[in-house]
Amino acid sequence: MQIYWTKINQIIEETPEIRTYLLDCPEDFTWEEGAHTHFALKGFNDGDKPNRSLVRHMSISTLPHENSIGITTRIREQCSEFKAILRNLEVGQEVALFKTISNVQLKRENKNIYLLSAGVGLATFRPLVLEYFEHDDRINHIHSLNIDSSKAFLFTHIFKSSPEKKFTAQFVDNRQDYYNEVERLATDQDGLFYLVGSDEFILENIELLYERGIKPEQIILDKHEQQRIELLAL
Ligand SMILES: Cc1cc2nc3c(=O)[nH]c(=O)nc-3n(C[C@H](O)[C@H](O)[C@H](O)COP(=O)(O)OP(=O)(O)OC[C@H]3O[C@@H](n4cnc5c(N)ncnc54)[C@H](O)[C@@H]3O)c2cc1C
Repeated sequence: MQIYWTKINQIIEETPEIRTYLLDCPEDFTWEEGAHTHFALKGFNDGDKPNRSLVRHMSISTLPHENSIGITTRIREQCSEFKAILRNLEVGQEVALFKTISNVQLKRENKNIYLLSAGVGLATFRPLVLEYFEHDDRINHIHSLNIDSSKAFLFTHIFKSSPEKKFTAQFVDNRQDYYNEVERLATDQDGLFYLVGSDEFILENIELLYERGIKPEQIILDKHEQQRIELLAL
């Protein structure tokens, strides 16, 4: 397994609780839109076994041509040891990345795509939307729906509705509005539904989509095959 040690080159305060850490891009490190990686802090591999409390799965919120690897995460006041250490890291300090996998690339099947996310889950979709703005071939339309009860919505300069770009962005701050909207979107019986959020959020969405006649093959999750099968086998 190759471990890439790299430096933080910028820290962006996206909202009061959400930061993006931009990391230098090691020369042979590549990824596609929708990739996630293992993001690790100094000391994680000092012992015989990796110290899991110093490692988290994180989506890469940038595209390669942005020349930095973006990691976007929420750090609440009450947080894990991992986030407490991360909060205190500064530009120039090192972090590690390993095992980068892409499960949620854009599917170019001449269909409408619905990106359904909770909170910072929107970070997974940022590179998909940027990729779509550059090449929209074989995609009819993209609609993003994000729920964040904090109302401090993320990436609103990118997630902005635009008829010319065939793109709709919606932000809601409560579950009722969110699920009403999902029901409406699910009337598109041929759409592709991407889901990013906690497992509980994903299961609730799958249940509702199934009730509305959406099939498992129309649902895309950032999970490896076995987990995907288990979640979709409701
Ligand atoms: C494929 C994949 C991609 C992912 N991508 C991302 C991503 O891009 N960005 C991202 O942020 N996460 C992402 N995650 C989730 C990520 O891996 C972490 O699980 C998540 O960020 C929570 O981090 P944490 O465990 O350090 O807990 P925290 O975020 O610190 O805490 C989780 C919750 O527990 C509460 N809590 C924690 N510690 C305490 C305490 N001591 N006392 C009271 N309450 C406490 C917090 O307030 C919070 O509500 C991804 C996961 C997967 C599987």
